[in-house]
Amino acid sequence: MTAPDESVVHGSKAPDKAAPKELPALDKLLRDCAPLVIEHGHTLVAREARALLDALRSRAVAGELLRAELSGLARTLATRVQARMQPAMRAVLNLTGTVIHTNLGRSLLADAALQQVLALTGSPNNLEFDLDTGGRGDRDDLIEDLLCELTGAEAATVVNNNAAAVLLGIAALARGREAIVSRGELVEIGGAFRMPDVMSAAGATLVEVGTTNRTHPRDYEQALTPRTGLIVKVHTSNYQVQGFTSSVDEATLAPIARRAGVPLMTDLGSGALVDMAALGLPAEPMPQQMLAAGCDVVTFSGDKLLGGPQAGLIVGSREAVGRIRKFPMKRALRLSKLPFAALEATLRLYLRPERLVQDLPTLRLLTRSQAQIAALAQRLLPDMAAALAPRFTVETVVLQSQIGSGSLPVERLPSAGLAINPVDGKGRTLEALAIALRGLPRPVIGRLNEQRLLLDLRCLEEPALLTAQLPALKDALA
Ligand SMILES: *Cc1c(COP(=O)(O)O)cnc(C)c1O
Repeated sequence: MTAPDESVVHGSKAPDKAAPKELPALDKLLRDCAPLVIEHGHTLVAREARALLDALRSRAVAGELLRAELSGLARTLATRVQARMQPAMRAVLNLTGTVIHTNLGRSLLADAALQQVLALTGSPNNLEFDLDTGGRGDRDDLIEDLLCELTGAEAATVVNNNAAAVLLGIAALARGREAIVSRGELVEIGGAFRMPDVMSAAGATLVEVGTTNRTHPRDYEQALTPRTGLIVKVHTSNYQVQGFTSSVDEATLAPIARRAGVPLMTDLGSGALVDMAALGLPAEPMPQQMLAAGCDVVTFSGDKLLGGPQAGLIVGSREAVGRIRKFPMKRALRLSKLPFAALEATLRLYLRPERLVQDLPTLRLLTRSQAQIAALAQRLLPDMAAALAPRFTVETVVLQSQIGSGSLPVERLPSAGLAINPVDGKGRTLEALAIALRGLPRPVIGRLNEQRLLLDLRCLEEPALLTAQLPALKDALA
């Protein structure tokens, strides 16, 4: 390192600049912050104090430190310590218009599920303890009857997520054997979850049948060999093949599988336990229909349309689910007590279908009417416009929300919201606004679209969470 230029540091230093020697010693700063040390302990406060003094010293050496900054050091240190204790995982406002947003934590838990998590996770519980016999229990026993009642299955089990359910199902039923899948269903769900890779990770040999757009019953029949362990159907949840297409549905495939003595497994992805069409939403296949059609195993997610925590639900025949449950990998993929508590409470809400749309935030948000959302947009418009003037104009707009998480990919829900336009028409100004919104105490996540920032209000149930932050937004943009 070269020595600092004398003329800069000392010679022409302005009188309001602090010299390095004016900084307090570490001990002195800690003594000045005694209550902070009592609250958080010496280790954290001293580490932050040292880092703060180091940073100030560098700026003082460079002649950049204002003497005025030295008067508020105790406060600066307190702010730093508090910031270190803030979890990095935070609540945000999802104004993207995508209801089940994978990057924003997917489904919101119902109050009943939240209460159950709170009540059970800070207390010992009977997760694997049989209260009747006083002996060891199985967590599946707490939930299996309910899942069977809701889906018509003979048996059920739950794992960490649906990806785990698929992996475990294939491994337990087809490890060391062949698994037949249509070429039109070799999907990538996102990240590294691609059906061919899942097959090999599960130790099964993938046998592809049919073509990308068309697969026929005879394709499956011709692929059956004595080495076949499983036929897999994958719901093409995040894309759609249109035009000259055909696929073989579960009802057609089930007798083919049964004749060959091979189980049939369907990965539904989202899977809805209630009829979405009856709620005015795009239809989505239901696990109970798949079981009635003759599937041996059906897997689906806990935090997509079901509206619960991250989980993978496996329902099916006693024989197939029994093999899955006994497979050694099951232990590594089992559902932890936190989501378990939330999942059970969520499933119990399905016993009261008339109340479901009120009780489950995911269904509540998906069924919000455009008129209701538009009225909210109208109400928020004046405050938003005032906070964003003069650099932006705001208008109410008609929007199209998405269900999200690969559910019903091409369907859109009529929605409404606010469009924010930069008066100077520049993308950079808009980007600065998006950054300011993300920088709020409760970050606001919208979406950029054609030189506008769109805030879809479908998922904004508490408008005060947005309006209370408008003064801070105005400051951030000033
Ligand atoms: C979402 C999805 C998965 C993965 O489910 P997770 O619960 O996210 O692990 C698997 N298959 C399909 C078809 C899906 O849509």
